[in-house]
Amino acid sequence: MIIVLRSGATQEEVDEVVERLKRLGFGAHVSRGVERTIIGAIGDERGVNLEEKIGVLPFVEKVIPVLAPYRLASREYQKTDTVVKVGNVEIGGGKLVFVAGPCSVESEEQVVETAVRVKEAGAKILRGGAFKPRTSPYSFQGLAEEGLKFLAKAREVTGLPVVTEVLGVEELPLVARYADMIQIGARNMQNFRLLEAVGKLRKPVLLKRGMMSTVEELLMSAEYILVQGNYQVVLCERGIRTFEPSTRNTLDLSCIPLVKMQSHLPILADPSHGTGRSDLVEAMSLAALAAGADGLIIEVHPNPIEALSDGPQSLTPEQFNHLMKEIKKLAATMGKEV
Ligand code: PEP
Ligand code: MN
Repeated sequence: MIIVLRSGATQEEVDEVVERLKRLGFGAHVSRGVERTIIGAIGDERGVNLEEKIGVLPFVEKVIPVLAPYRLASREYQKTDTVVKVGNVEIGGGKLVFVAGPCSVESEEQVVETAVRVKEAGAKILRGGAFKPRTSPYSFQGLAEEGLKFLAKAREVTGLPVVTEVLGVEELPLVARYADMIQIGARNMQNFRLLEAVGKLRKPVLLKRGMMSTVEELLMSAEYILVQGNYQVVLCERGIRTFEPSTRNTLDLSCIPLVKMQSHLPILADPSHGTGRSDLVEAMSLAALAAGADGLIIEVHPNPIEALSDGPQSLTPEQFNHLMKEIKKLAATMGKEV
């Protein structure tokens, strides 16, 4: 915190602030300007409300927070990058990681076939929704536990660990039994009870940015999970709502280097939901990796036209294979391993 004193503050008043800070366990760094005196409070601010203890003094003009509101998610708290392990796949360890699979699990054949094909192309984690957060209650809602069983089957066949979405606290124990990584979708990014519940698990979490959430809100949501003791959190930029109607969302690529500066948590990009258009996925995949993403999550369906959800943004296995080849070329120029 930085404490700005009102102009004309006396030496006694400065001393009083320094004294109070000391009693609260803080060091004080006093800087006297021509017009103003500024005092930097140095120490651990967790559990101390300096606004209340110091900001109320009549000669204090304002108390400015310096540290980001999130603590455990911040770079200040941890300088080194967090590496999240999903099965034996590491996210954030320097090697690029690709998560691929259908939007929804539709049948055993569909998910097993997709898993086999994306693995051949270079994917390391299988995605697929069994509980789907659909805008309309009349749309396909997912196969629920049956879908989780098909995902488990695909994992058995391919060895790929599985990430799948949980919609509510009630079904978390069920989803956690099958999943290697729990996905919190964009619509649930600020479902704080759900964040606390996954925070109590010891399973990696893929936390997607809400479509109308700021980067700070995303990191605060991560904080909810971390503060419960689960440090295995991977962030995901999946596009935000803007005024542009040509794409489903606007993939906010600038948030990737920004998150990297502000947080030690790994971040994936989702160019499928980020654009809503399969013909834009390749370009935005490459752009996201160039911006510093630790990997991508991409929707792939054996027959996108027949998909029960998100067909227009899903790649065919052939298109995914092509994309992975382009990615390998880019990774080589960036000195990164795939
Ligand atoms: C999904 O991954 O299928 C999904 C629903 O994503 P989002 O929460 O980003 O919309
Ligand atoms: Mn989808």
